[in-house]
Amino acid sequence: MFEKTSRPADVRRWPGSIPVGHRYTPGRAGEVFFAALRDGGVLLGSRCPSCELVYVPARAFCERCFSELAPDTEVGPGGELVSFTVAFAGVDGRPLDVPVTYGLVRLDGADTVFLHVLLDAGDEPLEIGERVEAVLRPGTERTGSILDIEGFRPVERTA
Ligand SMILES: [Zn+2]
Repeated sequence: MFEKTSRPADVRRWPGSIPVGHRYTPGRAGEVFFAALRDGGVLLGSRCPSCELVYVPARAFCERCFSELAPDTEVGPGGELVSFTVAFAGVDGRPLDVPVTYGLVRLDGADTVFLHVLLDAGDEPLEIGERVEAVLRPGTERTGSILDIEGFRPVERTA
């Protein structure tokens, strides 16, 4: 019983799962970001005057110099596709009926990247560096959620 186990597969074990739920609050700056998205259809970032960096979504402090920040900078809705991936399984590990493409987008005026779904890429393959734009839900349907943004779609593609 007190011998050290050197092979993890040899230990006695039984399968199980622990259901865990949580709520994550958006915080002071996040509240302003979501209200601006819902009410004005705008994407707000925070500019650090010391570092000259614009963070998106807006945040309360600069993660580099810890300066207090304000949600003071409108960015996008256009941007550059920095990276992307295609998911064939959901967060629960189960296969998706339809694969979902996620993209990292550097919105115009921002220095950080923003993660969201990429919409209707069509038959053309996505390319790093190509132009995309945010697609918002109609104002009457927005609730102050990240899903007020339907996703990003490629723009300025030549046929
Ligand atoms: Zn800073």
